[in-house]
Amino acid sequence: MADKRDYYEVLGVGKDASADDIKKSYRQLARKYHPDVNKEADAETKFKEVKEAYDVLSDDGKRSTYDRYGHVDPNQGMGGGGNGDFGGFGDIFDMFFGGGGGGRRDPNAPQRGNDLQYTMTVEFKEAVFGKETEITIPRTESCDTCHGSGAKAGTKPETCTICKGSGQQEVVQNTPFGRMVNRRACTNCSGTGRVIKEKCGTCHGAGKVKRQRKINVRIPAGVDEGAQIRLSGEGEGGLRGGPAGDLYIVIRVKAHEFFEREGDDIYCEVPLTFAQAALGDEIEIPTLTEKIKLKVPAGTQTGTYFRLKGKGVPKLRGYGQGDQHVKVTVVTPTSLTDEQKDLLRQLGGPASDAGNDQEHHESIFERMKKAFRGE
Ligand SMILES: [Zn+2]
Ligand SMILES: [Zn+2]
Repeated sequence: MADKRDYYEVLGVGKDASADDIKKSYRQLARKYHPDVNKEADAETKFKEVKEAYDVLSDDGKRSTYDRYGHVDPNQGMGGGGNGDFGGFGDIFDMFFGGGGGGRRDPNAPQRGNDLQYTMTVEFKEAVFGKETEITIPRTESCDTCHGSGAKAGTKPETCTICKGSGQQEVVQNTPFGRMVNRRACTNCSGTGRVIKEKCGTCHGAGKVKRQRKINVRIPAGVDEGAQIRLSGEGEGGLRGGPAGDLYIVIRVKAHEFFEREGDDIYCEVPLTFAQAALGDEIEIPTLTEKIKLKVPAGTQTGTYFRLKGKGVPKLRGYGQGDQHVKVTVVTPTSLTDEQKDLLRQLGGPASDAGNDQEHHESIFERMKKAFRGE
């Protein structure tokens, strides 16, 4: 299942296909590949593929999850089911061919291992620049001693004599309403169809063992909150020779004290003194990698944004980087010296006696600059 085909491709429709288009295409393909109609060797596989694609794309919720994350079966809830079993062909058979069908699952068929999910919390900058790390996950693996059979070395599981390997027993009951036949899992073999006489010493007959497995994980630069990384075949081991499931790493990103992130862009806020905003200044801005100088022009208003091009997050797909946006906030002074108060009064007073005298006006600014910087 590692190389699953795209569901849209399976149904031969575009990504923007309507629910009707999807249904129409599904009906055509289901008729074409139904194993009772099509006797080609791979018809059943194709039929299942079509049905699976339709199950996802015909459900709005599942479809949008698929559009975002690809092949993650939300039904599996990460750690359940997931062996491609659709409970026989009964339902669809009824739908198109008017009854019949109802296949039974072979209890000895290979079964794919469960998918696993691991949530990894990374630092803000680790998400931006990526990192390589080792994680330890508990998972079930096929037993090496018996190669998953559960039987002691040199022996083999034997076919159950009660159910003849089908894993199911028929129980006939005579009731006042007549004879009733119930089918239930074989009690002799617990529905597996096989009996292990001498159990493997390592796994005690289970065919699988719990392991703490160390796995190397590379977090690509530019991942963001909620991103999923799929490690194919690193989930739980399959049964009876089935393939292993996948491991999904879900990324959580810790908040940063100074930076915020939106997509590939970084946002931050820096305070400006009243004098810096009024007179202009060159200030130092921390970016993700270094400190850089930013020229703030005279007369900058509070809430103004400045853009530092290319100082954002490396793009996860493709080349280039986002930008850093710097919002300046002018801090109104709360405790002023007498001199500072005087200067502000002169500045804010009704045209004062200086009027439009440019020279005098500038000297107030010069004096203010000094007063507010403590020179
Ligand atoms: Zn049995
Ligand atoms: Zn074993």
